[in-house]
Amino acid sequence: MGSGLVQLGAPPAPTERPIPDGPMADGFGRRVEYLRISVTDKCNLRCVYCMPEEGLPWLRREEILSYEEIERIVREMGEMGLRRVRITGGEPLVRRDLPALVRRLRRIPAIEDISLSTNAVLLAGHADDLRRAGIDRLNVSLDSLRPERIDAISRRPGSAARIFAGLEAAERVGFAPIKLNCVVMRGRNEDEVEDFARITLERPWHVRFIEVMPTGDNLPVSDGEYVPAGEVLDRIRAIGELRPVRGPMGNGPATYFAFPGAVGTVGVITPMSHNYCDRCNRMRLTANGQLRPCLFGDLQTDLRGPLRRGEPISPLVKRTLRIKPERHHLVRGSAAGSGGLRALSEVGG
Ligand code: SAM
Ligand code: SF4
Repeated sequence: MGSGLVQLGAPPAPTERPIPDGPMADGFGRRVEYLRISVTDKCNLRCVYCMPEEGLPWLRREEILSYEEIERIVREMGEMGLRRVRITGGEPLVRRDLPALVRRLRRIPAIEDISLSTNAVLLAGHADDLRRAGIDRLNVSLDSLRPERIDAISRRPGSAARIFAGLEAAERVGFAPIKLNCVVMRGRNEDEVEDFARITLERPWHVRFIEVMPTGDNLPVSDGEYVPAGEVLDRIRAIGELRPVRGPMGNGPATYFAFPGAVGTVGVITPMSHNYCDRCNRMRLTANGQLRPCLFGDLQTDLRGPLRRGEPISPLVKRTLRIKPERHHLVRGSAAGSGGLRALSEVGG
């Protein structure tokens, strides 16, 4: 844009801010103790709000960090104050022998909590191994309770039965808490919000409704089918009283509620209607070794090159903390704030 106008939703140029000595914190005083690690950009589903149906240009094998490289990064960041990691993707269970990575991360004394985000399609066959390897907690994406809708949203017919088997296996091997992530879309699943919420009366599940976020490839869905979390909560309040409660664990972006006497909770994640960046505690590591201070925007630091040359990464981690932006700049109907991202599968969501 040569006119001097600011592009709608475009993030401002990065500025470096001084960061405190001591455990990792950014230039706005936010303690950063949590890393989301994407282990692959590939996925066995094609959720309509995430990945284009034809897929994306995949990373080449040699571009992807090995488990040993991921361990080295987490170990060094652990010495700087990292305490929790989440394994994500793409779909993390499509990467071979994921429990081997979990075992490596478990050996790092600084890491107190290891969780996994999955679509659960392959979970039934891996739940036991993952639990034994040391995964503490699971987030499962589930956008509908109706098989035909799961097929339509995921664009991979037949996945529903596998996902339900995966959830059953997760409960059987003792994962707790289990969080369900549901991206709410008008005309696709917004009429199931009450059914999802009712599950929390009987099962110790934490159902989180997520507002769909715009990326380069999803504007028709993220704009045309957007449902604000306030509307979701109104629907749920119409079937029962909701009280604000503390979340199941960790200081995530969700705000939680519960029905009186319920064993689970209902949460909303509101990236579009209510910005929660002031409590952001995380950074992201992409499958090809880029450390991102924010989910959105184009800021990232290459760790892979220096790591493969045997250089320390702590100065690069500090640099990334110094440029961590105050907030995201997403605007509904525009891809500008997503900073060139085509899909959240590229960075792990
Ligand atoms: N494949 C795994 C899964 O689906 O759980 C992990 C990766 S996925 C990118 C992580 C989370 O991001 C999922 O809960 C998914 O629903 C969410 N997600 C993906 N694209 C999104 C979007 N455009 N807006 C909101 N949430 C999105
Ligand atoms: Fe795959 Fe997860 Fe994206 Fe769905 S949300 S396409 S399961 S990466």
